[in-house]
Amino acid sequence: MIANWSRFAMVTITIATHCGAQDYCGLLNKPHAVGALPPNVTADQILRKLSDIASFNSDTFHLHADSDDGDLVAQGTAAQTCFKNQRYIFYNPAFVDQIRTKAGNDWAKLFVFAHEVAHHFNNDPLDPKTDPAPNKNQELLADRSAAKWLAQDGATALDLVDAINAFVVNENRVRNYPSRCERVEGVVEAYNKEAERENRVLGTSRSLYDLAPCMALEKGGGMYARRDLEPKTPLRASEVLQFGSPPSGANRPLNYDHDLDGMCMARALQGGQLLTWDNIGVCALMLGH
Ligand SMILES: [Zn+2]
Repeated sequence: MIANWSRFAMVTITIATHCGAQDYCGLLNKPHAVGALPPNVTADQILRKLSDIASFNSDTFHLHADSDDGDLVAQGTAAQTCFKNQRYIFYNPAFVDQIRTKAGNDWAKLFVFAHEVAHHFNNDPLDPKTDPAPNKNQELLADRSAAKWLAQDGATALDLVDAINAFVVNENRVRNYPSRCERVEGVVEAYNKEAERENRVLGTSRSLYDLAPCMALEKGGGMYARRDLEPKTPLRASEVLQFGSPPSGANRPLNYDHDLDGMCMARALQGGQLLTWDNIGVCALMLGH
């Protein structure tokens, strides 16, 4: 069953971080592996940054890169305890290298490692021979921890949604594994919880977000960018989303046909940000034709 599930995962997931099912400790026995394949500097830096944010000793985690193992290539990263009590994070360097958010930040790379650290904190990496299937609740909890830590370091809910979208490219739900949209909703809830706590305890005024299907939206109501939009992008109806009720007197676009047809972005927006008269302009004026 384990082998069957493994093959299933490899054909249905091209790149999607998930955990469980495979036994990676065996990779440490490869002749060239121990000591000869040091963690690449990026993964090491990521782990150290996370240890600063979440206050743990990064020396208690060992990183192990492997580019050849088919299961790890399919999973991207994985958490497993080897030699009885040594915490390992296995990762495919090519997977980590290619993770890019549209905004060009490192939140997604941080997120995938934070997710694996959280699995260790939660004692999730059990023996894959006796506990082969990924556990949906464990996965969502690991996401929530990652989201909370990154929110504490300044990530917004939109950054966290971008992070999920940067490494989960397959919409299909693998057995017992949360879907992309379930993961998006989980990190937005975790972000809001952390932001509310900071606002209450620290007196900050961090933004809270509404949850629309599979995306986070700035509070306010009106017309939103559905995806990240670059300056000078003409606004098409499919790229905007009407949501919520703006406060009375809010001076902002409210309807595509009436307000947005023929308009272009005046500055870059992340998917989920509110369109205002300040961040859009008339295309004919902006583009000079
Ligand atoms: Zn996981």
